[in-house]
Amino acid sequence: MSDITLHLGQTLWFTDNPMTEGPDAARFDPRGAIAVQDGHVLARGTADDLRRDHPQAAVEDHGQALILPGFIDAHVHYPQTAMIASWGKRLIDWLNTYTFPEEMRFGDADYAAEIAGRYLDLALAHGTTTMCSYCTIHPQSVEAYFNAAQARGMRVLGGKTCMDRNAPDGLRDTAQSAYDDSKALLARWHGQGRASYVITPRFSPTSTPDQLSALGALWAEHPDCLMQTHLSEQTDEIAWVRGIYPQARDYLDTYEAHGLLGANGVYGHAIHLEPRERDRLREVGAALVHCPTSNTFIGSGLFDMAGLVAEGQRVGLATDTGGGSSFSMLRTMAAAYEVAQLRGTALHPSALLWLATEGSARSLRIADRVGNLAPGTEADFITLDLGSTPAIAQRSRRAADIWEAVFPTIMMGDDRAVSGVWVMGQRMG
Ligand SMILES: [Zn+2]
Repeated sequence: MSDITLHLGQTLWFTDNPMTEGPDAARFDPRGAIAVQDGHVLARGTADDLRRDHPQAAVEDHGQALILPGFIDAHVHYPQTAMIASWGKRLIDWLNTYTFPEEMRFGDADYAAEIAGRYLDLALAHGTTTMCSYCTIHPQSVEAYFNAAQARGMRVLGGKTCMDRNAPDGLRDTAQSAYDDSKALLARWHGQGRASYVITPRFSPTSTPDQLSALGALWAEHPDCLMQTHLSEQTDEIAWVRGIYPQARDYLDTYEAHGLLGANGVYGHAIHLEPRERDRLREVGAALVHCPTSNTFIGSGLFDMAGLVAEGQRVGLATDTGGGSSFSMLRTMAAAYEVAQLRGTALHPSALLWLATEGSARSLRIADRVGNLAPGTEADFITLDLGSTPAIAQRSRRAADIWEAVFPTIMMGDDRAVSGVWVMGQRMG
């Protein structure tokens, strides 16, 4: 056993899901603490109690900063880091104009390593300690991602993006090579340190039925793995899927018919769902990932957060870098608030913070490891400065409670609000 460190500050954690149980599910302590030992959370409580219980512990006092779990970004494309904020397109022409030419470059292992490192450092600077990423069709893009994460000690998930049609030359695999490459990468990386391999067909339009079936077969061989893909993001895309899968009942059925619907399925966007799709997703316990900055940036539509949560769907939150317009989960929470407002619901700050931490962790089936700072979990956490700019500080000074104090940072904050980042108890920034 090694030394214990106490981190003191304002603390906030959840006894239950505030999406369904409301803000009473939160426990706030204006003078709280977490005790960290061997990279894990040993205990949490009031600063006084933990100091009494651990009189020999080193103490790091973060003052008025809010100690939170590191943010968890449930859907990103790290290869799109260098082309984030590309102007003027919607989904299909955005892919063809900006995304595919950039992803083509990841056949170069050096370029993949450069962008993987750049992406992870940007994510950490924004307080994101875990993410689930699509890589490119190139196995070296997956190697670069997991190697860069391992060098930083980070818990990450991801996989090779598979595409065998409707993508340019040089950016297509085959049904067989997608299976073979994915299987080899899975064997090499899944459960290796803090890495988890995720089976990753990009979406139905860029996979043949044969490829979807091959990846469904791989998933059946490794049911403990997650499978991630995109679902019902834009109406044009849905019409395209209907055209190339004429036998399918709906978009989700293109996955379901090929063994790609299950409890460990993670479906990005899920905006324009049919009633049958919603029923099936809920029945199997799949996760839906809301990507609000992407949905507004690419003009996709308004996710039905309130309706989906009310009917019992599992929902996570994500930037969708670089279809999303920010690396920041604070900005992403703000966009989720705005999108919900446009659908008539005001998401409480407790719900937004939960979505960006434990909610996303649950969507990725890792809430027993990260996302809540419960005793025994891995000590990935951040400190948030609730007055990081003059505009935010003048508003939060007037706050009557923690929710009023934190909401201006959710709505107006960025990487300047993230005053510290720890991974497995080690300070990263
Ligand atoms: Zn995406």
